[in-house]
Amino acid sequence: MLRLLQGGRRVPELTRQCQWQRTIATRFDREEPVELKMFRESVRRFTEKEITPYANAWEEAGEYPVSLQTKAAEIGLYGIGLPDEYGGIGDSDARWQVALLEELCRAGSLGLIESLLIHTIAVPPLLAASDRGDGQLEALRERVIPPVLRGEKRACLGVTEPSGGSDVANLRTKAHVDGDHYIINGEKTFITGGTRADFLTVAVRTGGEGKNGVSLIVVDGDTPGLQRTRLPTTGWWPSDTSHLTFTDCRVPRSNLVGEEGQGFPLIMHNFNLERFVIAVTAICLGEECLEEAESWARQRYTFGQPLLSRSVIQHRLVDMRTALTSCRAWMTLVAEQMSQGHTDVASICMLKNHSSATLRDVVDGAVHVLGGASYIRGCKTERIFRDMNVLAIGGGSSEIMKELAFRQLERNGSIAK
Ligand SMILES: Cc1cc2nc3c(=O)[nH]c(=O)nc-3n(C[C@H](O)[C@H](O)[C@H](O)COP(=O)(O)OP(=O)(O)OC[C@H]3O[C@@H](n4cnc5c(N)ncnc54)[C@H](O)[C@@H]3O)c2cc1C
Repeated sequence: MLRLLQGGRRVPELTRQCQWQRTIATRFDREEPVELKMFRESVRRFTEKEITPYANAWEEAGEYPVSLQTKAAEIGLYGIGLPDEYGGIGDSDARWQVALLEELCRAGSLGLIESLLIHTIAVPPLLAASDRGDGQLEALRERVIPPVLRGEKRACLGVTEPSGGSDVANLRTKAHVDGDHYIINGEKTFITGGTRADFLTVAVRTGGEGKNGVSLIVVDGDTPGLQRTRLPTTGWWPSDTSHLTFTDCRVPRSNLVGEEGQGFPLIMHNFNLERFVIAVTAICLGEECLEEAESWARQRYTFGQPLLSRSVIQHRLVDMRTALTSCRAWMTLVAEQMSQGHTDVASICMLKNHSSATLRDVVDGAVHVLGGASYIRGCKTERIFRDMNVLAIGGGSSEIMKELAFRQLERNGSIAK
């Protein structure tokens, strides 16, 4: 049950009656392996017990208790796609990501999800980086990854700068060598989880201009000279969107991720999964809005009839479902490809765009069905309305996705001669 208005006023309530999401999911999914099924069920129980009852309060507070992280870690929520030796679930592929997001999105709190899962963009570069053969990268991995996956520490990724986030190759934050240390100066902005992170994977310029001069360095949260400010945002309230300033920050050279100049490909490699996850999230949140709109249309009476009896409303709901179903079919195909080790960059970019645009349409539809209720805090559609725009910007904006998709399609001969 979701009470729409707070403050003691009697208002209609939305009842969660529709189970359609599950019907659609099973229609497209292959039979899930037992381990995945068990994982899905534990994330569902976790979401129902540990998140949904508190989601509104945490949204309003812009914060959630640290204990949620350790509870999440206990059910393996942080370990998907990450190796066993650091505490991950080694055998988990893209289908696990889908299951995780399907279950977490039921709480409808995107800011919370982003914050809980932000290590999925901060940690993988450490694993993908090439070892310099001096044991330092391994020591860094062992220091950072296990405590993050146990939910004891938090990590974030800082790439975007005030001068622009799309043009990663031209970032300006500088790091120069001074003995056994790098000295970092510059700024990062819009960084999710930035003020709370214990470890910040930061993109810096260690070399000349362009992408070959970019490196990744892990900066510890307590490094002197690191200043962190939380930014006021439209949505994603519990996600801790931050501005970071680095003033002569001394960071051990052993915190370099891989080789100098390896940063750009590591960031790009990481983007594929991030963009896929964004697409899945958009679809799942759209499904939440549809479910809320359907329940409302069934319960809400106008002129003596339930809204659901009006053909205009029926058509709107069918349009919403049609759009989501097409996204879900495509997403299932891409997940299948990824789980077989094939990354189709153009498809991922286009799917991200299609899903985030579909979410906008679906939210618009839900707003029309819900009427004024959609404008009141506590309603999932209201929250998703505030949160959704980031999905078309973060991880690469829709314009950049199209640029990249075209280049990839041209490269693999898909554009007609
Ligand atoms: C809530 C939130 C959380 C975020 N979390 C993180 C994080 O954790 N870590 C991180 O590093 N970043 C994060 N970001 C930043 C995000 O990745 C950037 O906002 C994004 O990459 C776009 O960069 P920008 O905002 O600087 O826009 P710009 O790069 O300045 O671009 C502005 C607009 O111009 C368009 N544009 C740019 N270049 C072109 C072109 N060549 N052709 C056509 N159009 C173009 C873009 O599409 C965009 O719409 C977050 C952003 C938000 C809002």
